[in-house]
Amino acid sequence: MLVSAKEMLQKAKAGKYAVGQFNINNLEWTKAILLTAQELNSPVILGVSEGAGKYMCGYKTVVGMVNGMIEELGITVPVALHLDHGSYEACYKCIDAGFSSVMFDGSHYPIDENVAKTTELVKVCNEKGLSLEAEVGSIGGEEDGVIGAGECADPDECKMIADLGVTMLAAGIGNIHGKYPANWKGLSFETLDAVQQKTGDMPLVLHGGTGIPEDMIKKAISLGVAKINVNTECQLAFAAATRTYVEAGKDLQGKGFDPRKLLAPGFDAIKATVKEKMELFGSVNKA
Ligand SMILES: [Zn+2]
Repeated sequence: MLVSAKEMLQKAKAGKYAVGQFNINNLEWTKAILLTAQELNSPVILGVSEGAGKYMCGYKTVVGMVNGMIEELGITVPVALHLDHGSYEACYKCIDAGFSSVMFDGSHYPIDENVAKTTELVKVCNEKGLSLEAEVGSIGGEEDGVIGAGECADPDECKMIADLGVTMLAAGIGNIHGKYPANWKGLSFETLDAVQQKTGDMPLVLHGGTGIPEDMIKKAISLGVAKINVNTECQLAFAAATRTYVEAGKDLQGKGFDPRKLLAPGFDAIKATVKEKMELFGSVNKA
């Protein structure tokens, strides 16, 4: 059964570790992440962007697939199904479809409008027992065609949004979606520290987890980050493993063209990536 991300993230914040959000794109992705979480006895958050939701034939299809897998694979660790960077409309669609968590990305609205819409969603999510993530300060890079500059959030605005009663808060601290450029300045721990001091025990969320050096990840967790989003890294691992299989001509040997064989190396690569991240984030055996 799907659960809200509230309890797992409050435990993570108190225990100084982070729960990974791994974005899903299809059945193989979902199965790889769920099985790895179960094997490592780790809580997990499955992230679905609006684009990926559309690709998987809508939020209802996603809910059906995930719930079916949890039952058929015997998954007993806490699993949250979370809308990633949702618009106001998409949040309502996911709430109706059976998601257990949503992110309302109001970072592109003026702060007053972000506050008004977030306030309304807090009420709806509380009534239904869902967790809600809000964002302050846009996160750099490209996410479904939206390009952010990677600005640092204003700690006072973070406190304003946190006080509305959201479950977790994503604050821009110089992080970027996708691959980091060579001249990237690194995370702003000064901003993160200021945000944590203003927001107290609010679990903080780090987006764009791909390519952030391990020591920075650990430092971010020590400063209150309790949820880390990983997306691009699984995609790169899947693509590289699939490329190796095809370039070795394995799809031309015997029944190597069978999708269950063709996609197996990529599936294993996602599992290895998720395992590596769960170990780094410290969520192993925290289910
Ligand atoms: Zn993000």
